[in-house]
Amino acid sequence: MEILSKNMSYNCIADFAKRFVSEFVSFPCPGCLKNMPESGSGFCGDCFSRLPLVKAPACPGCGAENDGIFEVCGKCLKEEKRNWEKALALMRMEDYGRELLHRFKYKSDAALARPFGILAAELLKKSGLRPDFIIPVPLHWTRYWMRGYNQAEFISQIVSEETSFPLKKVLKRVKRTPKQANMSGKERRKNLKGAFSAIDDDICRNRVILLVDDVLTTGSTLSSASSALLDAGAKEINILILARG
Ligand SMILES: [Zn+2]
Ligand SMILES: [Zn+2]
Repeated sequence: MEILSKNMSYNCIADFAKRFVSEFVSFPCPGCLKNMPESGSGFCGDCFSRLPLVKAPACPGCGAENDGIFEVCGKCLKEEKRNWEKALALMRMEDYGRELLHRFKYKSDAALARPFGILAAELLKKSGLRPDFIIPVPLHWTRYWMRGYNQAEFISQIVSEETSFPLKKVLKRVKRTPKQANMSGKERRKNLKGAFSAIDDDICRNRVILLVDDVLTTGSTLSSASSALLDAGAKEINILILARG
């Protein structure tokens, strides 16, 4: 009982501190670090206008702009059929979008999670998708330990706060896979086979799940994660990414 009341008072103090910070302390835009963010956004107007946002019509296979007459884009035509229903992508991997993502992913610039998460949440709301819950693509614990955070989890947390779809971390990475930057699609698929597993099949059964990651390149990582959730009985998987690589 004493422990419970101690936890409650810690939570009250943490809530108060968060409210105080958000009302009385102003932080500059995490993109340019000088202008103030637009209200309700997270980026300033300048940074927002420089983002290479995806324009409709989007490819359901990867969320990028559809560049042809087929249902999926030219890049997706060369990949195996996707095991998800629909992909939502916020940006193209170009220019300022690439620069910010690089900072977010490799330079520990975690402040970028909030504006990206807010924009990703807007995209999800506009899509009309209504997932039962959101799952971030997990990192293997060794990579998590080295990096100190999982960028997909940060984005998922903000998207969950902004949309009220719950976040559940029911996927784990069971195999540490070598970095894939120089691998072909076939090599990536082989590398990632059996890399993920659902922690609890009961939670996934018959559920509509939104899988979240930062970047989709060939889609092998998301495909492997999606397979693990479908094996655990999920009814439908959709994916949300910040950029199509
Ligand atoms: Zn800015
Ligand atoms: Zn595509």
